[in-house]
Amino acid sequence: MLLPMYRQRLRHCPSCDELMDEVSVAVTGSDEPARVDLCARCGSAFLDYFDGEPGELSRGVLEQHLEARLTKGPAVDAEGTSCPDCALHFQRQTYMEGPSVWRCGGCQAIYATLADLRALAAYRLPDEEHVRDERPSLLARLKRLFYKEPW
Ligand SMILES: [Zn+2]
Ligand SMILES: [Zn+2]
Repeated sequence: MLLPMYRQRLRHCPSCDELMDEVSVAVTGSDEPARVDLCARCGSAFLDYFDGEPGELSRGVLEQHLEARLTKGPAVDAEGTSCPDCALHFQRQTYMEGPSVWRCGGCQAIYATLADLRALAAYRLPDEEHVRDERPSLLARLKRLFYKEPW
């Protein structure tokens, strides 16, 4: 089976150059877990643009993988690191109205250090109209599940 282009190779941590582990993260509204690359050494993660909402992914990574095996990672200076896929330097950018993250201008992936993961995990999207274009109906679908409409 051919993997999609964006999942073709293992990635190295942009900060410590360790080979990252691919971990599964359960995602609301999806039967398929998201697959996130995680550095076991510094606790930073590569959040692929197609994997899901970064806040939810960060909560999943922290709760399902990191808290168990790594509670305090070394401080990582991600300044000047580049995307393992595109070799472009990550740029510091504000995610929605939330925390700043390192983002690749090529593939739009987020490189989140452990500190970034914690900030992202604490951040909740203000309301559904801010949900990314790829998943416009996710919250609407969830709401419909919980508040049954009359028809
Ligand atoms: Zn690392
Ligand atoms: Zn990239």
